Amino acid sequence: MQKILIATHNAGKLREFSSMFTQTPYELVSLSDVGIDVDVDETGSTYAENATLKAVTYAKLSGLPTLADDSGLEVDGLDGEPGVRSARYAGEDATDDDRIAFLLQKLNNIPKEMWTARFRCVIALTRPDAPVELYEGRCEGVITDRPRGASGFGYDPLFYIPDMDRTMAELSFDEKNRVSHRGRASQSVIAALRGRDWKV
Ligand code: IMP
Repeated sequence: MQKILIATHNAGKLREFSSMFTQTPYELVSLSDVGIDVDVDETGSTYAENATLKAVTYAKLSGLPTLADDSGLEVDGLDGEPGVRSARYAGEDATDDDRIAFLLQKLNNIPKEMWTARFRCVIALTRPDAPVELYEGRCEGVITDRPRGASGFGYDPLFYIPDMDRTMAELSFDEKNRVSHRGRASQSVIAALRGRDWKV
């Protein structure tokens, strides 16, 4: 089976990617499976730059076709914040609970009609010395005034999806993969990979 490296240290993302690729002819391997414990600093100012930086670096280190994503939450009333800084929004060592509390505090004086938001995900796919391909997925929603649900990770408990009438953290694992930004970007990657024969 052809291997693809999923270049993330985020356990939540790894679980989601692994599940979405189970129906494909590719075997996903993680950074720890291939013994890479190098961190890549996300110094880019866009999701595409950061995803590219990670995919190119880890493809070189592993010699494998590599997929890396960069994702974030954009809130309209905060001019698109936290955006590419979503992971570091409440400080380097903050937990998901800290980030949720920080976001709610930031929204304190912002009118509710400005709490509309979206998750965005850009996936970079590459092989050593090959061009980088980019795929994007989005999911539209509204920030809630208190966390709801226990599934998923990150800002999921605060992200209400009107079409589903639930927060992202109240969706089942498969439901999230169907409608999420990462799910949609992954579906595009899987469609693009169909029929490719990468000998690795
Ligand atoms: P990065 O892509 O590793 O820079 O991390 C993006 C950050 O955005 C994560 O640490 C989360 O805080 C947030 N994020 C990205 N995707 C999701 C998601 O599916 N649910 C909740 N939060 C997410």
